[in-house]
Amino acid sequence: MEIISISTSRETDFVDITPEVEKVITSSGIKEGVALIYSEHTTGAIVINEKEAGLLEDYLELLRTLVPRGKGYMHNRIDSNAHSHLRALILGNEKLVPVVNFKPALGTWQRIFFVELDGPRRRKIIVKVLRDV
Ligand code: ZN
Repeated sequence: MEIISISTSRETDFVDITPEVEKVITSSGIKEGVALIYSEHTTGAIVINEKEAGLLEDYLELLRTLVPRGKGYMHNRIDSNAHSHLRALILGNEKLVPVVNFKPALGTWQRIFFVELDGPRRRKIIVKVLRDV
């Protein structure tokens, strides 16, 4: 198991962690298996999709549309970030990626992102690589 530590710089951000994940998988020495990429945070998520400037704006707009900020959420009685938790709930906090020949089996346009939903903060992402049995 390895931990990828990152510092996010914006309140909501898609941080490309593909190079870090590839490094962990390569250095694991595991040729065929599966990699778990797991965020241990309640206001962060892990997603896989394309990294294109327009799309990155579209992702943010989708999150703002689905879960608008300050909509009278109960959690905001004790905190101010219910929208961050709810967006994380929808996206999910982990992904599994097949490992093929020491690399994550990503398609041409696929990138692995940590999604910051309540930044800026220090974040930890666990990567666990499991060998085929
Ligand atoms: Zn909260």
